Amino acid sequence: MAFKAEYIWIDGTDPSPSMRSKTRVLADGTTDFPIWGFDGSSTNQAPGENSDCVLRPVYSCPDPIRGGNDVLVMCEVLLPDMTPHPTNTRAACADVAEKFADEEAWFGIEQEYTLFEADGQQPLGFPEGGFPGPQGPYYCAVGANNIFGREISEAHASACIEAGIGIAGTNAEVMPGQWEFQVGPLGPLEVSDQLWVSRWLLHRVAEEYDVVVSIDPKPVLGDWNGAGCHTNYSTKSMRESYQPIVDACEALGKNIQEHILNYGAGNENRLTGAHETQRIDQFSYGVSDRGASIRIPWQVEVDQKGYLEDRRPASNMDPYLVTRLIVQTTCG
Ligand code: ADP
Ligand code: MN
Ligand code: MN
Ligand code: MN
Repeated sequence: MAFKAEYIWIDGTDPSPSMRSKTRVLADGTTDFPIWGFDGSSTNQAPGENSDCVLRPVYSCPDPIRGGNDVLVMCEVLLPDMTPHPTNTRAACADVAEKFADEEAWFGIEQEYTLFEADGQQPLGFPEGGFPGPQGPYYCAVGANNIFGREISEAHASACIEAGIGIAGTNAEVMPGQWEFQVGPLGPLEVSDQLWVSRWLLHRVAEEYDVVVSIDPKPVLGDWNGAGCHTNYSTKSMRESYQPIVDACEALGKNIQEHILNYGAGNENRLTGAHETQRIDQFSYGVSDRGASIRIPWQVEVDQKGYLEDRRPASNMDPYLVTRLIVQTTCG
């Protein structure tokens, strides 16, 4: 029997891309997913008079929404001449991943997000037109007075597991309606492909509940936590001894601007120095320090080996950009 393949790609919405997808019915037994195309003039990726863009499959997994033999197919976007489209950040990530493959880079990414009522205005757990009680009881809470949208976090995690995505865990966050899941540790391309598919699954799962997912880094202004994508990183040598971790922190401290410029739009509203962040215009690293740009986890100092956590990337960051830059800066 024929089956459905959901082709997923990243569009050209500025300054923060959105995800798009469409369905292709393929003949029974197809394993080599064909190249496909789409109308780039409807996604900010091409002018109307020359609108064709190309979808090239890069990662596929079982489709946990449809089930059966159906699949999800993550794609990169190419120009009709088969070179990477300007919005394609994966191609450069693939080059760097290959160049530094011997370093065996691993990434574990903590994706935070905020759930909104279908109007896109009111976060789950916020009373209509007002605010809930101050932050404190919500993080990792249990109980209907402090938890909003657990059914979505649960359904999403199960969907990721069924799809074979390397999801590592979930937790309720500091602001009501805010959640997190982690993907990894995996190599730069693998974690990025899987994070994008897991984001698509999150939007898709939330549809069923008439809830909207926001990955805006500061969804509610004021005394409410922003949303980030803490990026945990190690190389083989960092997993074996401590000095390479310090060296990586020092290297990141010498290339601050290029990283900040590629760590997500609107991040200046989040990296204020409050709410467990360092200011966007300052750089620091430290053991256990959640107010630093880079945290070395306490256990890593005890073990004298392990990984570092770059706390700067925003929830809407592009993992192809972030993982490429971290590898380039620390291994280059
Ligand atoms: P936090 O205490 O910052 O909330 P989390 O438990 O949410 O930390 O996330 C930590 C992430 O770090 C997990 O995704 C985990 O897989 C990842 N991680 C663990 N060890 C490594 C490593 N050696 N290299 C890269 N990532 C790692
Ligand atoms: Mn976390
Ligand atoms: Mn978190
Ligand atoms: Mn973290």
